[in-house]
Order: sequence, then structure tokens, then C-alpha cells
Amino acid sequence: MGMQKNIIKIEHPRRHHMVGDGFRVSQYIPGYGREMSNDTSPFLMLDYNTPWQIPPQHGHRPGVWFHPHRGFETVTIVYSGEVEHQDTAGHGGVIWADEVQWMTAGSGLLHNEFMTENFSKTGGIQHVAQLWVNLPKEHKMTAPRYQALTRENIPEVPFDGGRVRVIAGEFWKTRWAAQTFSPVELYDIRFDSKGSLEINIPENYTLMLLVAEWEIQANDKTIENGNIVHFSRSGTSVLLQSDSITKVLVMAWKPIDEPIVQYGPFVMNTEAEIQQAFDDFHAGKMGSLES
Ligand code: MN
Repeated sequence: MGMQKNIIKIEHPRRHHMVGDGFRVSQYIPGYGREMSNDTSPFLMLDYNTPWQIPPQHGHRPGVWFHPHRGFETVTIVYSGEVEHQDTAGHGGVIWADEVQWMTAGSGLLHNEFMTENFSKTGGIQHVAQLWVNLPKEHKMTAPRYQALTRENIPEVPFDGGRVRVIAGEFWKTRWAAQTFSPVELYDIRFDSKGSLEINIPENYTLMLLVAEWEIQANDKTIENGNIVHFSRSGTSVLLQSDSITKVLVMAWKPIDEPIVQYGPFVMNTEAEIQQAFDDFHAGKMGSLES
């Protein structure tokens, strides 16, 4: 076992806000009152909604209406619920439970996100995380792209006590073929019973864990449900131990050390590029709803 990564901080933002009228989320990254920074680079934002009981909606579909993005990627992880998506780059579909949508906004698009009609009708448990992942400067204006990671194409690596679902990167030589613009490891770890697992992450990577169900031990410290753990960049390993059924989201990435200028749904490197994003959005260059 290599040098352990140290726990720097454990956080649980005990407040929430609404995204549209369909997603009640807490902001874990950068966190309320903080600006996006290279401290968690290239993760710009993590909104997470702890399991939330949605009552039947009687003809209304909660969600968020068309809005633009430029300069980064959104990664939507659905643990429970049904999120329907449509964008002006011509992509659309439903993200079902245990599935992930990897959307590269790149040069820009408009998209919407709603509960499916059926889920709105019946109600149920909604449990979703959305990560914003920065793009390196040279790829910020790449063409929009959409990768649907379904239950069928997310590889699962069994270990003693559970399985690692490899959303991106590589675990024990099992690779997910998702194209990413910088080196990334994103694992949805499911313990099915008592067990332990050592995770190895390259030196100098950003590493964070979100506990999405029950609690785990990370390097012998108990991390409760709904908490995020930030680890030191130094060191290469973390030991996870579980006593029960748990879900842990592991986020690790090589930091992108470039300036971050954010305004709302646009994340670029300079103020001038933000102004350009607004101009392009208003000129309809990110797509238009009239077709
Ligand atoms: Mn969005």
C-alpha cells in the first residue's frame, strides 16, 4: 500500500436551493458563498440532492427550462429517479437510475432537464448528483458532445464486498471508454456488505469522496451519509471500509492550472471570453429554440 492521502476536510452543507422547480440540491463544490477555484480543479461545481421524496405531480413536470452552458462539461449521475434531457446540439434522452450523462458543453449549447412524464405522474425518490468539470483552455471551444453511460455500458469490477462501477478512467485494468479531455477517475462504488477496498490514485491528483448512502470508513475515519471528503494531493492511496450497504462516489482528476472566470452558466479563462459567450448566446450561436 502506497502513502496514504490525508483527509483535509469533511463537509456537509446543511442547506439547499432549487434548480428550476425540479431539483432540490445542496452545493458541495465550491460551496455556498465561495467562488469556483483551482483548489478542487478541475471540478468546478458539485450539486447533490440527497434522496428526496417527490409526490405525484398531477399534470406538471418539474425541472429546469432551456439554459445555456459554455466552457466545461456537466456530468449527471442518477442514483434514483428519471431525468429527461434535450439539447440544441440535437441530443436527448432519459437518464435512468444507475446511469450517467456526460455532456460536453464546449463552445456552447442550450439544454433542459426535467423529470420524465411518468416519474412526475407517479412520484418517487429522486437522488441525483451533478458535477461540472472544467475543460482545458485548448478544448473550451470544442464541439458539444453527449455520452450516455447506461447500465449496460458502465463496466463493473467486483471486489470482496461489492463492486466498482467505472464511470471514467480505469480501475484494476478495467477501463471505461468515455472520452475525456484530461485524465480522470470517476467511480461509483457500491458495497453490498461488509468489506474493504484500497483505492490508488496518482500522486498530485485532486481526490474527493461523496457518501451517497449509509456511512463508510476512509483511512479509519467515519464519514457519514451526505458528507464530502477532500483529500491531500500528496499520497496515492485511500482505504475504504464498510459495514453495510453503501454508495460512495469517488472523484479524482489531474488539476487544470489555468485561470477560472465564471459568470452563471459560462466558465472561461478571461473576462473577454465571458463577454463573448454572452454575445454569442444572444446572437443565437449556442443554438436556438426555434427550429
Ligand atoms: Mn444545465
